[in-house]
Amino acid sequence: MKIRRYKKAHRILSFYQNNFDFKPPYTVLLDATFCNAALEGKVLIKEQIPKYLQGQTKIVTTQCIIMEVEKLSKISPALYGVWLVVKQFPVHKCGHEGNPVPASHCVKSLIKTSNDAKYIVASQDSDLRQHIHEKVIGTPLLYLHSSAPTLEKPGENSIAAAGSSTRTMSEHEASMLTSLKRKYLDQTPAEPPRMKKKRAKNPHSLSCKKSMKKKKHPPQPAIEDGKRKRKRHRKKKATQHVSSTAE
Ligand SMILES: [Zn+2]
Repeated sequence: MKIRRYKKAHRILSFYQNNFDFKPPYTVLLDATFCNAALEGKVLIKEQIPKYLQGQTKIVTTQCIIMEVEKLSKISPALYGVWLVVKQFPVHKCGHEGNPVPASHCVKSLIKTSNDAKYIVASQDSDLRQHIHEKVIGTPLLYLHSSAPTLEKPGENSIAAAGSSTRTMSEHEASMLTSLKRKYLDQTPAEPPRMKKKRAKNPHSLSCKKSMKKKKHPPQPAIEDGKRKRKRHRKKKATQHVSSTAE
């Protein structure tokens, strides 16, 4: 089962590598919901995520995420442990310093619609994940499934975007093919000449005339006939001589 999980992770990462230029070291942007699930599932984030992604990984969070869970922990003490986990990670500048926004808004503002900074978003927030699926392309989603880090399958948006990129590739290939076809077509004019050659076979009609002439030539065999006739004449003469001698 573990091998299958890693193969699946590798396949999904390959999709993002091939279509959206993801490269190690990966930047994993995690939020408090992921840390909460990790705490409940006794998952060692710093060990499990790099192991699962099979590559160098930089795990970061933002000031907005830390401050939100800090506030919530004051209302719900159960989240105090989550706050302790989240603030272990390096803080990535999000542009909201001094003016924090809700954690999900912060993540959305960082990835925008095309995730140019190549974040892998680690979250259990279903609303955030749905937003990424529907409105953002090229964003791997990492979540904990029964305490196991799991990459979600690429969303339809990302697949469509990847498909369009391959379509442009195919267009390039198509243009290459057309240029090649033109070259072949330049060679194919060699075929019409073949047709002309076939038309040149019409001259075969001329050759047929020649053959007719040849048939007319049969005068040659006529000569042979003449020779034969002459021979016959000779024979006749011979017979005449014989008959004359006999007479
Ligand atoms: Zn922020």
